[in-house]
Amino acid sequence: MEKITSLAKRRGFVFQSSEIYGGQNGAWDYGPMGIELKNRIAGAWWKEMTQLHDDIVGLDAAILMHPRTWEASGHVENFTDPLVDCKKCKSRFRADQIPEENLAAKKCPDCGGELTDTRKFNLMFKTHIGPAEDSASVIYLRPETAQGIYVNYKNIIQSNRMKIPFGIAQIGKAFRNEIVTKNFIFRTCEFEQMEMQFFVKPGTDEKWFDEWRKRRWSYYEKLGVKMDHLRWHQHGHGELAHYAKDAYDIEYLFPMGWRELEGVHNRGDYDLGRHTKFSGKDLQYIDQENNNERYTPYIIETSAGLTRNLLMILCDAYDEEQVAEKGNDDDVRTVLRFHPSLAPVTVAVMPLMKKDGLAEIAADIRAELKEDFATDYDQGGAIGRRYRRQDEAGTPFCVTVDYQTKEDKTVTLRFRDSMEQIRLPAAELTARLRQEIKGYKRIK
Ligand code: ATP
Repeated sequence: MEKITSLAKRRGFVFQSSEIYGGQNGAWDYGPMGIELKNRIAGAWWKEMTQLHDDIVGLDAAILMHPRTWEASGHVENFTDPLVDCKKCKSRFRADQIPEENLAAKKCPDCGGELTDTRKFNLMFKTHIGPAEDSASVIYLRPETAQGIYVNYKNIIQSNRMKIPFGIAQIGKAFRNEIVTKNFIFRTCEFEQMEMQFFVKPGTDEKWFDEWRKRRWSYYEKLGVKMDHLRWHQHGHGELAHYAKDAYDIEYLFPMGWRELEGVHNRGDYDLGRHTKFSGKDLQYIDQENNNERYTPYIIETSAGLTRNLLMILCDAYDEEQVAEKGNDDDVRTVLRFHPSLAPVTVAVMPLMKKDGLAEIAADIRAELKEDFATDYDQGGAIGRRYRRQDEAGTPFCVTVDYQTKEDKTVTLRFRDSMEQIRLPAAELTARLRQEIKGYKRIK
């Protein structure tokens, strides 16, 4: 993880928040490469959910919601973590994340000092809206995006004439006052989620739950993730969240071990039932095709962290490879094997030399490719070193302009993964790159 964290900083993927003030715990900033990667991951998920599913529409709800929302959702009462402190070394732990023997003996796992009693700690960030700081002005930063979907479900049925089964997808920020934030951007206080809530008729929920588990698994397969680094974990009885009827996590093998990447939950009628009760509004679905039958839909949820997905994609892509490449004496290369559709830069264009008009030709080729791809231009240093820089940034393709280009208008196209180089007319680049991206298969 240290190598990934340092590469992420060096290459402008992720910086510590407010670093010049010593950093802010639980918050991170996404640099020029990071924001491109994050946007592409979000774009892939959005396309998967909305463009490829006729029965799913999008939403962007506000972060600030009526405080009753969080009473109805159960977060005011139940969204707590058990907290213990060490009286000696002052370390703070989540009681469910330290060995049971330590908890039973009240012994700190770090220094052996005495632990405090376990107390419940609500994870919602609380603030005030308006000038008065009293109990009537309390408002929360949303700890999940899902509730914005539930409170809009009737609006969307009416405005977009949706018929059950249908889904609503949303990407956005969420905030949790996490007790322990470590492992880089894995668990942070400010993060982004990609959530989809699928509304179904009671009795069909188990079928849809299985279906969504299958779909989410094949989504990661399509992204080119190492499938032996993914596994399912079913929540046992003690583990189920207050709303869940059944729940499975997709776990990824991160450098610190297997950890949750995404949750797929059968939430039953808990959410709409609670919002009906707390708002006093009728949230039943009226099935006009079935004698106006009325029921409270069940909800199947797929809930993934966008920022956690970004960490997964970085870890999954990271590779160090022993190589001997012409023009470079360094024999280990660091390479990020991003799927070309996710890579922050798709193609880098470089002149072999700056002189003799090669730089101008390269700049023209880049200008042309820009319309269709995310490009970079690099003319500094030995060509081998420039390739390595692009490998480390995860750029899947490099185009090199040399003296032959002046004669016959052909260029070299170099592939990041195989380091293979081919020669082709510059005029064929756009079509060839499109074909390579579409047919991409990871070789390692
Ligand atoms: P945990 O038990 O690990 O705190 P959770 O089960 O409460 O997590 P969910 O509420 O199911 O997590 O959240 C759905 C997804 O949102 C998670 O799978 C994860 O990808 C992401 N997520 C949740 N909390 C955080 C966080 N603090 N930082 C980054 N991503 C998070």
